[in-house]
Amino acid sequence: SSAETAPTIALNDGYNIPLLGLGTYGSRKDIAKMREAVYWAIEAGYRHIDTAALYNNEREIGQGIADAISKGLVKREDLFITTKLWNDKHGKDQVVPAAKASLEKLGLDYVDLYLIHSTQAEKDDGSPADIDITETWLAMIEVRKQGLARSIGVSNFKTEHLDKIISNSSVYPAVNQVEIHPWLTQEQLVADCHGRGIAVTAYSPFGFLVKRGGSNKNEDSTLLSIAEKYGKSTNQVVLRYLIDRHLIPIPKSTNKQRIVENMDVFDFRLTDEDISAINKLNKNKSIFDD
Ligand code: NDP
Repeated sequence: SSAETAPTIALNDGYNIPLLGLGTYGSRKDIAKMREAVYWAIEAGYRHIDTAALYNNEREIGQGIADAISKGLVKREDLFITTKLWNDKHGKDQVVPAAKASLEKLGLDYVDLYLIHSTQAEKDDGSPADIDITETWLAMIEVRKQGLARSIGVSNFKTEHLDKIISNSSVYPAVNQVEIHPWLTQEQLVADCHGRGIAVTAYSPFGFLVKRGGSNKNEDSTLLSIAEKYGKSTNQVVLRYLIDRHLIPIPKSTNKQRIVENMDVFDFRLTDEDISAINKLNKNKSIFDD
């Protein structure tokens, strides 16, 4: 493929992760579009795709990947595929089988990155399970040993959770995937992760824009003036803001034009002043708490 691809950075285990990936969490309608969306994304230069057992779309994603490989757009080793262990599979004997079940759905023999989706262990019925996060992390290390995942990491971990699993295993997660955008800038958590050599993936980069609602959803004067300065959209400015903070955004889209737009962020960069101005929009507000 002749499309431009995202630059990569090295993880603490030596593997490389592309600085931007395709998010895939969505509705049932999105799931039906996912095979095509993954293909469009690879065609547009994406090499990193983020899914999870929870999203119920691993089969469709696997089909999109298989289409792209069989059409000769990419080889498996060109791609960086992430999936995640759901909360109901935290027990030490559940983790390896859960990873294998995800691989079966994806049609892959390894993922590039396997994440613990959250710290909250649950039983099948969704009630809390009494399983220590260290037990789950030790089983994740086994997933990596068995070659089911090249890299292992976590999601929605606070610094205290990171320090707990690190001190109990001496194995650092490669990645912590957390919510970061201009309303939730997470400067301290990012510093804590980067200080420990843990890369940070930023999820829901556009959630705060979508939450504005209505047709004026992108109307933020700070973002608009920066967007105008570079001749880019506000969405592209948000992605660049994250990349320039050395974060890895994973914007979701199942729309071909917006998939292309979101990859078109590697021909400009923000100044430190732009980044500080956007940091000032912080409200410490998750788009998920209401
Ligand atoms: P995003 O912040 O990626 O926003 C997605 C929304 O923005 C969709 O409605 C999409 O619509 C729209 N959109 C995408 N691109 C543009 C654009 N250029 N202009 C205007 N609108 C646009 O939301 P997500 O919450 O999905 O987060 C991204 C990904 O992060 C998820 O898909 C998932 O992979 C991951 N995630 C991980 C979590 C975790 O706990 N680890 C939690 C939440 C998300 P359309 O598709 O129609 O373009």
